[in-house]
Amino acid sequence: MTNRTALVTGASRGIGRAIAERLAADGALVAVHYGSNKAAALETVAAIEAAGGHAFPVEADLAQQDGVDVLIDGLKEGLAGKPLDVLVNNAAVFGPGIDATEDEFDRVFRVNVRAPFFIIQKALPLLRDGGRIINISSGVTWFAVPEAVYAMTKGALNTLGRSLANTLGDRGITVNTIAPGITRSDMNTWLDDVPGAADGVAKIVALGRVGEAADIADAVAFFTTPDSRWVTGQVLDVNGGLYLG
Ligand code: NDP
Repeated sequence: MTNRTALVTGASRGIGRAIAERLAADGALVAVHYGSNKAAALETVAAIEAAGGHAFPVEADLAQQDGVDVLIDGLKEGLAGKPLDVLVNNAAVFGPGIDATEDEFDRVFRVNVRAPFFIIQKALPLLRDGGRIINISSGVTWFAVPEAVYAMTKGALNTLGRSLANTLGDRGITVNTIAPGITRSDMNTWLDDVPGAADGVAKIVALGRVGEAADIADAVAFFTTPDSRWVTGQVLDVNGGLYLG
């Protein structure tokens, strides 16, 4: 990844932060996008720089109508004329279910579906031929959860990846999707807050533990390497063997 660049959305915390740190450790200049938690984004940038890497923060609330344009402007400023090599659509919000209001439904779709779509569309002129797009989906597309709206947004990302991989193949751009399983992050505070929850999860995972953000980041890194050159349009479950029976 030396002399390469990457944008990771939602890189202030959790899985996005781990992805940003991993791609920076591999040598990329990383745009650390966040929605509102500036302190956390600056911590990610500082951690990358302390480890000898390079990164810059980009603020954009993807629930806002102009959020994607704000993000692309910040990205262009930080890249200062360099092309983009890797785009990771990771930012998302969780919930709600069948009791969702129309406003809640729209908000989750704006952040989880509309934003990744238009980030890709608007980043394409910056993305070099042979570049990589990785979208972060979820296992909830194949197992049931009460948060049906969130699950629907992740199903949309799986569909987007297959279609776009075909559209962008001419430019040598691969588009792949990673579906994490149950991973420790602020989205899953119940793992630490509910007594016995992490042990319960470990029992339904073949490899016997809760996932960590770095487990997901390392899989994302594979899709940025030349070793993944012949893989596109795929959804990869990264979950330690969740619900294998
Ligand atoms: P976190 O809740 O820990 O982090 C969410 C990130 O998204 C933060 O960086 C946050 O920015 C950003 N974000 C949230 N809302 C907005 C917004 N309106 N505009 C811009 N950015 C926003 O999530 P995880 O790390 O757990 O999840 C990362 C990805 O992995 C998501 O796509 C999630 O759906 C997926 N996933 C997670 C699983 C898990 O078990 N954790 C399982 C399966 C999939 P800020 O800090 O500024 O709020």
